[in-house]
Amino acid sequence: MKPKCMLEYDIAIIGSGPSGSCAALTLQNTNVRVALFEKEEFPRQKVCGDGLCDRSINTLRAISESYYFEFMETFSPLPMQKTDLVYKGTHYTLNFKNFGYTCKREDFDAFLFSRIQRDCSNCTIYQNTQIAEVQKHERGLVIRSSQNETFFAKMVIVANGAKSHIATELTGKPWAKEKNGVAIRAYFSGVSDTKSDTIELHYSKKYFPGYFWIFPMQNNIANVGFGYSMKDKNKHPLSIHEIFTEWIQNDGKLRERFKNAVPISKMQGGLIPYNTNDFSSAGNRYIITGDAASLIDPISGGGIGSAMYSGYCAAKTALQCVETQDFSYTQTKTYEKALKQRIQKEIRKRNRLQKLIRRLPFMLDMFAYVAKNQKRLQKISSWYFR
Ligand SMILES: Cc1cc2nc3c(=O)[nH]c(=O)nc-3n(C[C@H](O)[C@H](O)[C@H](O)COP(=O)(O)OP(=O)(O)OC[C@H]3O[C@@H](n4cnc5c(N)ncnc54)[C@H](O)[C@@H]3O)c2cc1C
Repeated sequence: MKPKCMLEYDIAIIGSGPSGSCAALTLQNTNVRVALFEKEEFPRQKVCGDGLCDRSINTLRAISESYYFEFMETFSPLPMQKTDLVYKGTHYTLNFKNFGYTCKREDFDAFLFSRIQRDCSNCTIYQNTQIAEVQKHERGLVIRSSQNETFFAKMVIVANGAKSHIATELTGKPWAKEKNGVAIRAYFSGVSDTKSDTIELHYSKKYFPGYFWIFPMQNNIANVGFGYSMKDKNKHPLSIHEIFTEWIQNDGKLRERFKNAVPISKMQGGLIPYNTNDFSSAGNRYIITGDAASLIDPISGGGIGSAMYSGYCAAKTALQCVETQDFSYTQTKTYEKALKQRIQKEIRKRNRLQKLIRRLPFMLDMFAYVAKNQKRLQKISSWYFR
C-alpha cells in the first residue's frame, strides 16, 4: 500500500546537475509524471574544469537540436580545437577531431535547468529540497527530504553526484575511497601565453594519471586546477593545495606565465569518482546516473559528457518502465546495456593504460616518444577531451 496523503509521481529524479537535468529534459512531452529534487537553488556554483567534450554537445543535440543553438547563442562558449600535452617541459599539440567547448558550469547547469522550467510541463520541480532517504515500499518508493516532507514514486533516477549515499543505500555497495580522485580549481586572470582555442594538460610521472590544467575561458580568464587519484593522496607529503603551488613554482615557464596572474575566485575542490569498468547501476525501481554511478573517465577526469548521456539513457529506460508498468531489473538493465555499448570499450582501454603507466612510469617517456609520430598522436587525442 502507498502511505496516505503523499504526492505521487511516476519517476523521481534526485539531483539537477547535467545527468538529472538531461533525464528530465528527455522526459518532456510524455505523459510521465516527474518530480525533480535539487538541494540547491539555481544558478548554483559547481566546482569544475568547465571543459565540455563532444559527448556533452552531442547529447544536448540528441535531446533537442534547438537547445544546442540556444546554448551557443546565449553563451558563445569558446570552441576548443587543440590539446597541449606538456611533459618534461615539452609541448605536444593535438588537434581535436571533434570540437569541445569551455563554459562556466554555473552557466551551463543553469541553462539546462531553465529549459526544464520552460519546457517540461510534466515535471514538478522542488529546489532547496535535499533528499535524505529513499525507502523501498511494496508498490514503489517513499522519498523523504531532510525537511521531512515525503513523496511517493514508482521509480527513481539517482543523479545526485559523487559519493551518493542514496546510491549506496539502494545498491548496498559501500563507497570505495580508492576509486576516486580529488581535484581543485580556481579562476585566474592574467595568465600569459594561453591560447583561446587550446586546453593545456601538464603531466608528471609522480602524479600520473593526475595532472595540472589550464583551460582558457572567455574574457581572458583561465580555469586552472590540479587533480590526482585518492590512492596517491597519502603517498605524497604535500597537500593538494601545496602541490598546485609547487607545480607552478618548480616549472620555470609556468612560473613566468603566472608572474602577473591573479586568482579571481576561491580555490575549491571536489571528488572525481572514476569509472573502473563497473556499469552495474540499475536495479528494481532504480537507475543511477553520472557521478553517482562513478562514470568519470579514469584518465581525463571528464564526466559531464557521460553524466548527460547516462541521464538521457536513464530517461529512455524509465519511460519504457512506465509504459510497461514493469519497474524490475528485467527492464532497468536496458540502461546498463546502453551505457556498456557506448562507453565500456573506451573505459576498459583507458583503465588498462592508466594501470600500466602507474606500474611502469617510464611508459610516459615512451608515450612522449611515440607522440612525435603525428598520426598516432591524432588517435591518442581523441581519447582525452571526452
Ligand atoms: C575540480 C573538478 C573539475 C572537473 N572538471 C571537469 C571538466 O573539465 N570536464 C568534465 O567533463 N568533467 C569535469 N569534472 C567532473 C564533472 O564535474 C562531473 O562528472 C559532473 O558534474 C557530473 O554530473 P552529475 O549530474 O552526475 O553530478 P553533479 O554535477 O554533481 O550534480 C548533482 C546535483 O545533485 C544535487 N544534489 C546532491 N545531493 C542531493 C540530494 N541529497 N538531494 C537533492 N539534490 C542533491 C547537487 O546540488 C547537484 O546539483 C570535474 C570535477 C571536479 C571535481
